[in-house]
Amino acid sequence: MLNIILMGPPGAGKGTHAKWIADQYKLPHISTGDMFREAMASGSELGNKIKDIVNSGGLVSDELTCELVKERLSRPDCANGYLLDGFPRTIPQAEALKAFGPEIGREVNLVIDIECPSEVLISRIAGRRVCPKCGASFNVNTMKPKKEGICDYCGTPLIQRKDDNVDSFKVRLENYTKSTEPLLDYYKKEGLLHSFDGTLPILNMQSELLALLGK
Ligand code: AMP
Repeated sequence: MLNIILMGPPGAGKGTHAKWIADQYKLPHISTGDMFREAMASGSELGNKIKDIVNSGGLVSDELTCELVKERLSRPDCANGYLLDGFPRTIPQAEALKAFGPEIGREVNLVIDIECPSEVLISRIAGRRVCPKCGASFNVNTMKPKKEGICDYCGTPLIQRKDDNVDSFKVRLENYTKSTEPLLDYYKKEGLLHSFDGTLPILNMQSELLALLGK
């Protein structure tokens, strides 16, 4: 069974690879970023509470995030594996997952880390366009949709995320370095960490992932 965490700095390609892994291995793709964006778009109480934090690149509180993820992982579609994208992002979140994971039968057994230098990240973030409906990610320079401005998968007009600007990116990268990077050591010690070069062409990355996860 594949209970996977996908890690990497903003712009490393998590969303793109997550979509592929989830399709390939029939796993529910659980992205905390997508869950927060959906909450904001729906104008729910949660959405209004987190809007300013998310748009400025800050981190939502560990308590709120962990509660949301625990509830999501508890659902029956995660019983045969799952792919977590964007969670955990802090040591307290990892500790919480370590405690509630086994409790709800969802213990993590693999961590995939996508590494990427910051100069590559910033240019990817600037060109990124996303589908607000299905979450697919494109890039105006390197990964253009077939039809300009339109999602290849569901035909929805693409948008630029509010937090994909230079100021928010800086905050997100700082948060990554300060709060999330320490998790690499944490999962290395647990013997779960597998690191990949995020600058590789997508197809090469996919064949490396196949080698790790099986066909
Ligand atoms: P992402 O789509 O993964 O880049 O996440 C977008 C934004 O959602 C982040 O910049 C945070 O504001 C928030 N977010 C997503 N996941 C988490 C998390 N695990 N902990 C705290 N905030 C999160």
